[in-house]
Amino acid sequence: MGLVVQKYGGSSVADAEGIKRVAKRIVEAKKNGHQVVVVVSAMGDTTDELIDLAEQVSPMPAGREFDMLLTAGERISMALLAMAIKNLGHEAQSFTGSQAGVITDSVHNKARIIDVTPGRIRTALDEGNIAIVAGFQGVSADKKDITTLGRGGSDTTAVALAAALDAEVCEIYTDVDGVFTADPRVVKKAKKIDWISFEDMLELAASGSKVLLHRCVEYARRYNIPIHVRSSFSGLQGTWVSNEPTGDLKVEQAIISGVAHDTSEAKITVVGVPDKPGEAAAIFRAVADAEINIDMIVQNVSAASTGLTDISFTLPKAEGRKAIDALEKTKATIGFDSLRYDDQIGKISLVGAGMKTNPGVTADFFRALSDAGVNIELISTSEIRISVVTRADDVNEAVRAVHTAFGLDSDSDEAVVYGGTGR
Ligand code: ADP
Ligand code: ASP
Ligand code: MG
Repeated sequence: MGLVVQKYGGSSVADAEGIKRVAKRIVEAKKNGHQVVVVVSAMGDTTDELIDLAEQVSPMPAGREFDMLLTAGERISMALLAMAIKNLGHEAQSFTGSQAGVITDSVHNKARIIDVTPGRIRTALDEGNIAIVAGFQGVSADKKDITTLGRGGSDTTAVALAAALDAEVCEIYTDVDGVFTADPRVVKKAKKIDWISFEDMLELAASGSKVLLHRCVEYARRYNIPIHVRSSFSGLQGTWVSNEPTGDLKVEQAIISGVAHDTSEAKITVVGVPDKPGEAAAIFRAVADAEINIDMIVQNVSAASTGLTDISFTLPKAEGRKAIDALEKTKATIGFDSLRYDDQIGKISLVGAGMKTNPGVTADFFRALSDAGVNIELISTSEIRISVVTRADDVNEAVRAVHTAFGLDSDSDEAVVYGGTGR
């Protein structure tokens, strides 16, 4: 029996009962002969509560202090989980990200893992312990400051440790039974997917299916670590994410894997940009220098009479203020008229490798949206994805309409949500 990495999300350890339930599950894996490394998130909505608290004392908290604060959440759950396991008569030791050897760059609030040196974890395992690691955190290589990996980052910690420790599998335990064809909180008739390729899962994650974080899937693909997404509340098999379906999973690649949605983004429109070469470069340079990742971009056709154009792009709401500040500073040099900020948008994406060879998909997608009376504001496509931006209020209805139109609805209401607040 080899080594397994198990990750438990916040909703799985939301209270003392949850921690005890999870502890039993971990002990089962150990009793089955595995070496077990557990990555744990902060309890319930702790991270959101800490963020709210920080915002009450400062509108733009310093990144270093913000990370110090947020990492406290995972420290609480890791210690409690180790205690609960010991109470069941098994040895466990908890480790912060830094102690576990999670080395990152120094970009606070969204650091990237650059190395994993899990010497202490190996030793703890060799001595017969279950190792509990605080997710979502690391230590910067240069300044030795505590960093966080961005929201949902415990998924990445788990896969990074699984790769460094050469684990058989990385199990991601959450509050639903696996990856579904749409968010079960929105689509009751969503279907559980038995197996999905890294490629399709990457697109779903990048498009807002927060059941797995995009970076974690990227990492798993790079190191070829199979992920098993499953519920910590049920004993059911979940979803395997890997290069090829393995074992008795004989799954054909579907044309459409699923529908994702995302309401965490905002749209900035730069109004009245002179329509000449170099303007877009200057705008996006300013945004990039502020270390903001943008998503979709659209430039309006310039009205010939004015020689001016509008450029809109989407970005995480959490970075809206920083982007506006950065652009305001360049207003004089770039010479645009004004900035418009809109955080009432949502994005809906249809994902599937089969799109490459099925030319009707785009037309059917737009037809489903128009039949549902949903207006489209921006469009972007890749080989295996189509995304549109709409009003935030229309998103749930649009997701359901598209899900039905592509024949993804299941006959039963199999999508169970066991916990969590969806926050
Ligand atoms: P955790 O706290 O375990 O990390 P998250 O809230 O980050 O859990 O992720 C699980 C949630 O992801 C589910 O409760 C569900 O609402 C949401 N979700 C979004 N898209 C999907 C999907 N396609 N399949 C399953 N869950 C999804
Ligand atoms: N606790 C962190 C968050 O809520 C990290 C995680 O749960 O993965 O984003
Ligand atoms: Mg998560």
